[in-house]
Amino acid sequence: MRTTVIGAGVIGLSCAYELSELGHTVTVIDADAAGAAASAGNAGWVTPFLSTPRAAPGAVRDAVRSFTSTEGPARMRPHPELGFADWITKFLRASTKKGNRKSTAALQEFARDAHAHFDALLDRGVSFDQYTDGLAVVFKDEQNLRHYEQTVTTMRSLGYVGSVRVYRGEETRAFDPALHPDIAGALHLETERHVRPETLCQGLAKAIENNGGEVVEHDAVDRITERPARQWSVTTASGRTVVSDNLVVAAGFPTRTLLAPLGVKVPLEAAKGTSMTARGEGTAPSHPLKLYENMVACSPFGNAVRLSGTFDIGNRDFTLNHKRLDMVVRQGLSYLADWHPTNLDVEWVGHRPTSADDLPIIGPVPGRTGLYVATGHGTLGVTLGPVTGALAAREIAHGQTQPQLEPFRLTRF
Ligand SMILES: Cc1cc2nc3c(=O)[nH]c(=O)nc-3n(C[C@H](O)[C@H](O)[C@H](O)COP(=O)(O)OP(=O)(O)OC[C@H]3O[C@@H](n4cnc5c(N)ncnc54)[C@H](O)[C@@H]3O)c2cc1C
Repeated sequence: MRTTVIGAGVIGLSCAYELSELGHTVTVIDADAAGAAASAGNAGWVTPFLSTPRAAPGAVRDAVRSFTSTEGPARMRPHPELGFADWITKFLRASTKKGNRKSTAALQEFARDAHAHFDALLDRGVSFDQYTDGLAVVFKDEQNLRHYEQTVTTMRSLGYVGSVRVYRGEETRAFDPALHPDIAGALHLETERHVRPETLCQGLAKAIENNGGEVVEHDAVDRITERPARQWSVTTASGRTVVSDNLVVAAGFPTRTLLAPLGVKVPLEAAKGTSMTARGEGTAPSHPLKLYENMVACSPFGNAVRLSGTFDIGNRDFTLNHKRLDMVVRQGLSYLADWHPTNLDVEWVGHRPTSADDLPIIGPVPGRTGLYVATGHGTLGVTLGPVTGALAAREIAHGQTQPQLEPFRLTRF
């Protein structure tokens, strides 16, 4: 069986790798370098605990506030395209208490085996940088910590089994000496992990090639055509035509424009984020940290630290907004005692492919035999990449419907 995958981000590469493991001859095509878009400069957290949708009660209030906000972590900039109005209407509809609880349960169920899927990649020789120090949610305000402890109860009721430890006051600095003395406390999710996301994509691309597959870079797919005898062909900017039995579209946010000419509507919006990775001086954090009040992520990667954040819905451009990045860095450093960047490695922007209910969109496209979509992973593409690849590959290669994927079908919109 021949399968073409459009998009060499963590989702497309995970699908392609698992299909190559099942004997498919895969060709992955990317407009850019493999793993260069949303899958590059993100925080790299693998976190079933934080696998919850952004479509939540309060989303309406936050959306209205964000019109005027300059300092907030989330902003909404309505896009003049008609599709944006449709997206926001659906997003607000999914943000009810009932809708949020249902979506959270589906995501928790899906993310439950995330760690096992990372272990399975390592066991099969896929190589990437992984750190197993857990993940800490850090609070400046003691009241926020107390309130957040209720989230643990909710997650336990949804089946979260990881171990959680709470540190208060002085003991927080003993837990991670990089933290500022004024920090009120931290909640350590001891069994979470993080990866250097760039190395995950590199490792998957290499494993695909070792299995006889091909990863084509810097060649955008311009057109998808359905051919007779259940075949698909894609044509690229360089004039290449690739014909296959199956086509997986995992192109992140541009998935919607790629599938639109086929009459397939995918309600996706871009949620722009930004990060800075640097080596520095002072005591670097020994754990990845979610800096709660400012929603900034801090990820230590060996001798470098990455600070990332912002969730700017409707902002589709690729320019680096220095004001937004400076805000992320300033807010991030306010949680640390003395670490500060001295040698900049990279500044980055990326677009989280965010669906209208902030759940992934995974499954066959109805009425189009052989066409499969895998996108919409929003804030969770790293966490859910390997499990998405494994389950999608079983559906594509063996035609076995995977019950865990049922909440994520395109037909729900
Ligand atoms: C600041 C930030 C922090 C984050 N932190 C985390 C985290 O800690 N943990 C986590 O789980 N998730 C995190 N995420 C989310 C995660 O980065 C995304 O969910 C994930 O990278 C999406 O992967 P993807 O493969 O769907 O998209 P992408 O990585 O964007 O890949 C899509 C690929 O398709 C290609 N493409 C597009 N159009 C075409 C075309 N016409 N032809 C060929 N190729 C095309 C693109 O070039 C791109 O390489 C974060 C995101 C941001 C922005």
